[in-house]
Amino acid sequence: MSKVIKVNHVAIAVDDLEGALKFWRDDLGLELDHVETVPSEKVEVAFIPVGDSEIELVKPTSDETGLAKFIQKRGMGLHHLCLQVDDIDGMLINLRAKGVRLISEEPVELPGRKMAFIHPGSTNGVLVELYELLSEA
Ligand code: ZN
Repeated sequence: MSKVIKVNHVAIAVDDLEGALKFWRDDLGLELDHVETVPSEKVEVAFIPVGDSEIELVKPTSDETGLAKFIQKRGMGLHHLCLQVDDIDGMLINLRAKGVRLISEEPVELPGRKMAFIHPGSTNGVLVELYELLSEA
């Protein structure tokens, strides 16, 4: 039975990374690990480790993405919560069997991880991302 291991990250939608870093890094004192552009997702991400988890500041690099539309509609704010699981395929089968609405029917495979999204309609309004980290071959 697949299980949730921990909160991997909390993602905050922003329209200006430097502006957002002013609070998270400069005012709060957290350390910026690195900034990464993810062309496949059309986002730029600032990774800020917090203990065993991370805060990710996520900025759209195109006006056409769901993330960009989210900001246009609601402004910046909490975008999703990511739970790390030990077996994402098993978890999706399990959730589907329980009637949970999934955005991703199948996990998307990216370098080092597999991910999928659960529909906020099934999660009290929170977009939930699932991650399974893949060990480097
Ligand atoms: Zn995420």
